[in-house]
This record gives sequence, structure tokens and C-alpha cells, in this order.
Amino acid sequence: MSNTDTRDPTSLRTPIVAVLGHVDHGKTSLLDKIRGSAVIEGEAGAITQHIGATAVPLDIISSIAGDLVDPDDFDLPGLLFIDTPGHHSFTTLRSRGGALADIAILVVDVNDGFQPQTLEALDILKRSQTPFIVAANKIDTVPGWNANEDSPINDTYESQSDRVRSRLDESLYEIIGNLSDEEFSADLYWRVQNFQRNVGVVPVSAMTGEGVPDLLTVMMGLSQRYMKEEMEIDVAGPGVGTVLEVKEEKGFGKTIDIVLYDGTIKADDTIVVGGQNDPIVTEVRALLQPRPLAEIRTESRFEKVDEVSAASGIKIAAPELGDAMAGAPVRVVRDRPLEDVIQEVRAELADIAVDTAEEG
Ligand code: GDP
Repeated sequence: MSNTDTRDPTSLRTPIVAVLGHVDHGKTSLLDKIRGSAVIEGEAGAITQHIGATAVPLDIISSIAGDLVDPDDFDLPGLLFIDTPGHHSFTTLRSRGGALADIAILVVDVNDGFQPQTLEALDILKRSQTPFIVAANKIDTVPGWNANEDSPINDTYESQSDRVRSRLDESLYEIIGNLSDEEFSADLYWRVQNFQRNVGVVPVSAMTGEGVPDLLTVMMGLSQRYMKEEMEIDVAGPGVGTVLEVKEEKGFGKTIDIVLYDGTIKADDTIVVGGQNDPIVTEVRALLQPRPLAEIRTESRFEKVDEVSAASGIKIAAPELGDAMAGAPVRVVRDRPLEDVIQEVRAELADIAVDTAEEG
């Protein structure tokens, strides 16, 4: 062996997770619950703040999930949840391969069952071939439910009366039946052997946190097992991302919030961003992360960082961003010919236009 640097230039990035489902079925509450649990568990360690997304690192998933997760079984670094749930964000947020999200959670209210937007979400997931699991939410509203905060589903299930259990079972089987009507072979997640062929249904409560350990475990397992190859990226390479939102920010002018899904972006990079007319070529002025809550009162809401790597949510301040669009691609130029990068962005914009026309 020589002494030359033998570090592997590729690295595994965090899978990006989207949450879909019918209005009021609990998408926002579920994200809030996951975020809340991550903050509590992360108090001792550092949680990196993200723009427009919530990162839940593996060690935090493992402390939320307790016995369900052995961190040694995983080498993916955790999960990155996009904070804006819903179909619109899922369909507008694209990456070069298709959906920006690598995996999805379809939230279904156990009492309300399948609704129009549930079907719409299934259709979107099918077309984009996004692997997903179903969170059968609001199990705490089954009459007679005995809540066990943040407990894994098996433990809380054991502590319910026979009557409550059979009521829950009935609702869960109805959801499984509805999935099968839509040609998705589904089962309760602990019975699923192959998550590529079958959709796992995870009973949860976004209110009490019951089943959330299971949900995180299943998402982590699914990604590790079936998506690992897609998560291999050149971390040091020029960054590639998607614009979540274009926002005016006091002191910074127009900024873009992006999710970076490949490579790295640095505070002095030149970037090309999809615009309403033409690709925009501009220099990064600042990369901004939210400041930890405790520090916000006295200072700006953001702190500057020198660089970030995928997958992450970050705000970019740069001149000329007036024409930037949500859903548009962002690419770091670095040492490549500028014209090539502009062409790539133009091609991606054309793809988005075609998809949008097909949807309309
Ligand atoms: P979204 O429209 O899908 O984002 O749904 P929300 O998260 O806004 O939830 C809609 C309503 O259902 C709110 O009043 C929530 O408090 C309530 N809710 C969401 N999840 C649960 C749950 O697990 N249990 C109970 N009891 N209520 C819930």
C-alpha cells in the first residue's frame, strides 16, 4: 500500500423524504412530531438546522426508535424530510431523474380512510415510481384507545383492550383493501418481506407519537435496503439542487431556498439557476442556515456557512435572483465550462415544462 490518499470520493447521502396525503389527515402534524422528537433527542448532540427541510440523523433515529434500530445495520446517514407536505410541492420539486423526493410517506386517517387526494397521491407516486409507505394515522382516536406516548406500535397494541384492537384492525384492513383496489399489494409493515413489491402500512399517531419509532425504522430500512446505490454521490463534486422557494430576505434581497441533492456548494461558487426566461448565471454571496432558536432574538435569523454537502436544505443569497422559480434546477459551475452547465439547466427546464404540460 502506498501513502497516497485512498479515501473513497463517493459517499452516501441522506435520502430525501416527502409527505403526501388528503387534507387534514395529519401530514403537518406528523412532520411536527418527527421534528419535535428529533429536537428532544438531539439536545445532547448537535442538530444541523436546515432551510425547508428537517434532517434526522441516524443516531437520533436510533434513540427515538430504541430497540427497533441497531445503528450498526445502517450506513446511510439518516433521513431528510421536506417540510412542505402535499402534492403540489411533490410534483413541482423535481430532480433530473424525476421526483426530488427519494421516498414518500402517504398519510391516511384511519377513521376517514381513502379520500380523493389519497387517490391522487397514489397516482402521483405510481407515475414517479417513488417507493413509499403508508402511515395509518390518528390511531389514538379509535374509541377507547389507551395512549402510550412515543411507544412502538407493538407495545401500545398489547396494552389495548380486545375491542379496541379489533376496531383498529378493521380500519387497517380497510386501508390495505383500498390499496389493493388501486393495485398496490400492501400489508402491515411487520409482515412485509420485500418493500419493493409490497407497500408497508405503519399505524401511527402524530398526536401521541405512537408508532413514530416504527415509521422511522421502516423508512430507514427501506432506504438502506433498496436505495443505497442511488444515494452514492461524489460529495466533493459541484452541487446540484432544486429551488424550493424564492424569497425576499431583509438585508439579503432576493434569495432562493434550495434542497441540494448532489455534491457540494461553497460560499464563493458561481451557480446557474433556472429562471422564468433564461438560466441565471450568478455568484453566491452567502450560504445561510437558520440560527438555533435560542440565538435568534439578538441576531439575524440566519448564520453564514462556508459550504454545505448533499443532502441539505440551504438558503442562497446572490444577485440577479429576481427571475428564479420554485422547482427550477440549481447547478454549481466550479471547474466546468459555463456553457455546458447553462445547457444542462436549460435541458432540465425544458423537461419540467413538458411534465407540467402533461399534468395540465
Ligand atoms: P394536514 O392537512 O394533512 O397537514 O393535517 P394536519 O396535520 O393539519 O392535521 C389536521 C387535524 O388533525 C389537526 O387538527 C391535527 O391536530 C389533527 N391530527 C393530526 N394527526 C392526529 C393524530 O394522530 N391524532 C389526533 N387525535 N389528531 C390528529
